[in-house]
Amino acid sequence: MENCIFCKIIKGEIPCSKVYEDDKVLAFNDINPEAPVHVLIVPKTHVQSVMDINADDCQLISHVFYVASKIAEELKISEKGFRIVNNVGENGGQTVSHIHFHLLGGRLLQWPPG
Ligand code: 5GP
Ligand code: ZN
Repeated sequence: MENCIFCKIIKGEIPCSKVYEDDKVLAFNDINPEAPVHVLIVPKTHVQSVMDINADDCQLISHVFYVASKIAEELKISEKGFRIVNNVGENGGQTVSHIHFHLLGGRLLQWPPG
């Protein structure tokens, strides 16, 4: 989608520090990391948020979690644990309107979130 920063990253129009890519998703390091590991896992199709997922997207979303487990293993955060976060809308703190999943790890993460 035009003017979507993540679509531009997916198309290669804006550079990123790539961690993983396949035909369905792109994963790259967050530009403003909140933890030693902070990777964004982004479906290549422009879906605005969880609220816009349809039945055909279900396999794609489970694929995101599978990829998250592989990246966590690769980046050696799987043993100690990590967090997968998806923010939705204004109150959820979503700032980019292209669905994405934060993979956070490498330190003890607080709960509950602020
Ligand atoms: P949200 O707040 O929507 O859940 O997450 C958006 C995330 O995208 C933020 O953590 C922010 O740092 C990251 N971000 C925004 N613009 C860019 C960018 O151009 N490059 C990268 N790598 N991350 C970005
Ligand atoms: Zn987009």
